[in-house]
Amino acid sequence: MSQYKKVLVAIDLSDESNQVAQRAQGIADNSDCELHIIHVIEPLSFAYGVDIPMDFSGLQDEIQNQATEQLKRFSEQNSIDQDHQHIVLGRPEVEIHAMAEEISADLIVVGSHGRYGLALLMGSTANGVLHGASCDVLAVRVGN
Ligand code: AMP
Repeated sequence: MSQYKKVLVAIDLSDESNQVAQRAQGIADNSDCELHIIHVIEPLSFAYGVDIPMDFSGLQDEIQNQATEQLKRFSEQNSIDQDHQHIVLGRPEVEIHAMAEEISADLIVVGSHGRYGLALLMGSTANGVLHGASCDVLAVRVGN
C-alpha cells in the first residue's frame, strides 16, 4: 500500500487530543508525509445568536486568542510546523472537510467516542467527517 502524503488531524483541544495526535504522528512518521492540524472554533452566535440579542464579538475574540495559543502549544509539543497549524471558525465537520480539500489531504484523523442510545442517534463529529469526506478517514477510539 502506498504511504499517505498529507495527513490532517482534527483536535478539539480536550485532554483526549494527545491520543488522536499521536496516532496521526505514527502514520505521518516518514519524511515524505506532511502532518497538518486543525481546530475549529464554533461561533457563539451559532448557539445563542437568535435567542439572545447580544454582541458576542469581545468574548469571541478572547476564545479565539486562547484557542490559538493552545493550538500553538499543542503543535509545538507534537512537532507540527507553524504553517501546518490551522484554526478556523465554523462547524467542525464542514471546516475539516474544507481544509482537507484545500491542502489535498489523503487522510483525515479524528477522535471517536463510543456512543450509545440518544447520543448515537444524534451523531458525532467523527460521523460527520466520515460522511462526505473525499479521502480516507481514521477514527481513533478515545475515552471509554
Ligand atoms: P466529538 O464527536 O465532538 O466527541 O469529537 C470527536 C472528535 O472530533 C475529536 O476527537 C476531534 O478529532 C474532532 N473534533 C470535535 N470537535 C472539533 C473541533 N472543534 N475542531 C476540530 N476537531 C474537532
